[in-house]
Amino acid sequence: MKKISDNYDVIVIGAGPAGSTAARRLAQTGLQVLIAEQRQSVGDHVQCAEFVPQMITKYAGLRSIDVAQQLNGIKTYINGEAASVVRAPGYVLHRSRWDKELADAAVAAGANLMTGVRAVHVNGSVVTLLCGGEYQEVTGKFILGCDGPCSLISKQLGNKQAETCIALQQELTLVKPLNYAEVYFDPAWYGGYAWVFSKGTTANVGLAVHTSHTGRLKELLTDFCRTLVTRQIVQAITGSATTGGLIPSGGLVPCLANRHLLVAGDAAGCTHPITGGGIMNAVVSGQLAATAVIEATAQGIEQLAKSYTAAIQAEYGRQFAIACDRLANRNQEWTGNNAEFTALIRRSWIAFPEYYTQ
Ligand SMILES: Cc1cc2nc3c(=O)[nH]c(=O)nc-3n(C[C@H](O)[C@H](O)[C@H](O)COP(=O)(O)OP(=O)(O)OC[C@H]3O[C@@H](n4cnc5c(N)ncnc54)[C@H](O)[C@@H]3O)c2cc1C
Repeated sequence: MKKISDNYDVIVIGAGPAGSTAARRLAQTGLQVLIAEQRQSVGDHVQCAEFVPQMITKYAGLRSIDVAQQLNGIKTYINGEAASVVRAPGYVLHRSRWDKELADAAVAAGANLMTGVRAVHVNGSVVTLLCGGEYQEVTGKFILGCDGPCSLISKQLGNKQAETCIALQQELTLVKPLNYAEVYFDPAWYGGYAWVFSKGTTANVGLAVHTSHTGRLKELLTDFCRTLVTRQIVQAITGSATTGGLIPSGGLVPCLANRHLLVAGDAAGCTHPITGGGIMNAVVSGQLAATAVIEATAQGIEQLAKSYTAAIQAEYGRQFAIACDRLANRNQEWTGNNAEFTALIRRSWIAFPEYYTQ
C-alpha cells in the first residue's frame, strides 16, 4: 500500500458538478485539495438528460460551446395529450464538455485531480483509493463526498441507500428542432416520466421509473420511442439506449455531515425528488459544502455539521419536503384510470398550480 500524501486539507471524491465546483472554491482559498475521480477522464459517459434552468448561470459559468440548445420552457403531456406549457427558459448542455471545463477550473485554481482512482474505504481521515489494481492511502482533514447516488461517504455517515428512480436514455434524430423540453406521463411508467430534450438536430429521449419497476424499463423506452416516431417527433429508432442511471428521489439524506465528512450533490440527495433535476443543485450544494469547510478551517470543526446542515436545509428543506409529499401521494394513489391519472399528475407535477395549492 502506497501513501501518496499526508497533507491534503480536503479530499473531494467525485469530479461531477458538485465535486469540481467545491474543489475550485476550496483551492481558491489556498487549501490543499485532492479530487479523486474513478473515471479515466472527467465527463466520460455522463449519465444525464442535460437540461438545466437558465438560473444556473447565477452559480456556474456556461460558455456558448457548453450549450447544445436553449429552450423556452416545459411542455407536459399526460396520457398522450398536451396538458400544460410553462415558460421557464433553460439550456440543454453538452455535459461531458461542461464537466471537463468545471474540473479544469478546479485544477487551474490549484486542486490536484487524480482520475482512474476509486475511493473504496474511509477510516477517520484516511481514504483508500484503488488505482490501476493497487491500493493507495491518502489523508485529508476533511473528506467531501460528491460521489453520486451510491455514495461511499454517505454510507460512512450512516445513511441508508436512498430512494431512487432508474432511467434509460438514447439520443435520436429529430424531425425538426423543438423549442420546449417535453415531459410525458403515462400510467405504465410507475413513479417516473419520459422526456424529449432537444439539442439541435437530435434529442435526449429517456424514461425513468421507480426502481421497483426496473424490469420493463427497456421495453417501455422502446414503446415510447415508437410513439415519437408515429407522432413524427423523431425520425426513426436507431440503436439502443446509450446511457441511464439512478436518480435520487428520496430528498435530502438524514445526515449531511459530521466533524470531518460531508456530502454534496446526488450523494446528499440534493436532486429534486419530483423532477430528478440535480445539476444546478449539485453546483449550489458544492459551493455550500466548500463554504462550510472554509469556515470550519478558520473557526474549528465543532460547528461544521450544524452550519452545513442549516445551509442545505435553508436551500432545499421546504421545497423538497413538499416534493417528497407529492411523490409519496402520487405513488400511493397511482392508477390506470385515465381521468384519475390526469388529476393525480396535476397534483404532483411542478408545472400545475394544483402542485402548490394543497
Ligand atoms: C439518466 C439521467 C438523466 C438526468 N437528467 C438530468 C437533467 O436533465 N437535468 C438535471 O438537472 N439533472 C439530471 N439528472 C441528474 C444529474 O445528472 C445529477 O443530479 C448530477 O449529475 C449530480 O451531480 P454530482 O456532481 O452530485 O454527481 P455526478 O455527476 O454523478 O458525479 C459523481 C462523480 O463521482 C464519481 N464517483 C462515484 N463514486 C466514486 C468513488 N467511489 N471514487 C471516485 N469517484 C467516484 C463518478 O464517477 C462521477 O464522476 C439525470 C440523471 C440521470 C441518471
